Amino acid sequence: MRIVLMGPPGAGKGTQAALLENKYNLIHLSTGEILRKEIKEDSSLGHQAKTFMDKGQLVPDTLLLEMMERRLKNPDCDGGYLLDGFPRTIPQAEGLAVSLDKLDLSLDYAISLFADELELVYRLVLRGKNSGRSDDTPDVIRDRQRIYWEHTAPVLGFYRSKGLLKEIDGIGSIDEVFNRIVDVVEK
Ligand code: ADP
Repeated sequence: MRIVLMGPPGAGKGTQAALLENKYNLIHLSTGEILRKEIKEDSSLGHQAKTFMDKGQLVPDTLLLEMMERRLKNPDCDGGYLLDGFPRTIPQAEGLAVSLDKLDLSLDYAISLFADELELVYRLVLRGKNSGRSDDTPDVIRDRQRIYWEHTAPVLGFYRSKGLLKEIDGIGSIDEVFNRIVDVVEK
């Protein structure tokens, strides 16, 4: 199974991704995590990404597409994967479609978690107190949400038009939300 998991910052993608990974034996590929690791290792990619990430801005599409095309060719992806945080723009969604085509593969679902904006800011400010993430501060959170609506929300339309989009209410307990996802995936 190949799944794209989408949703505004704070919608609970990371939490649900971990549960899905477990249940369906998928590889969880979070571009945010991959980039944070690159920064920690002080790689050239990490260096290029850091200035954008600290400001809550998107890392340029070309960097993301190169990184992900390479990653998805890795044999550990053969059993299926869950993409978390990618694609985040229309060019990324188109680029992913081209990469998959080259491998003669396609996506099964694009799952979109939606939730009330205020609830999301509240969740993220709380997380920021524990996560130590440099981009979990109120100002940067607002910027990340604005960028989501501007650049990432259009990707929902892209997948809707392909019949892949499944929209799921992200408010509720972790288990409740997970069960909604499982229902959709197993239907
Ligand atoms: P969030 O909780 O906001 O979804 P992520 O961990 O997915 O956070 O991403 C953190 C940051 O990493 C983003 O704000 C952005 O700067 C960068 N990033 C991650 N994925 C992408 C992507 N697909 N395209 C561009 N930038 C990305």
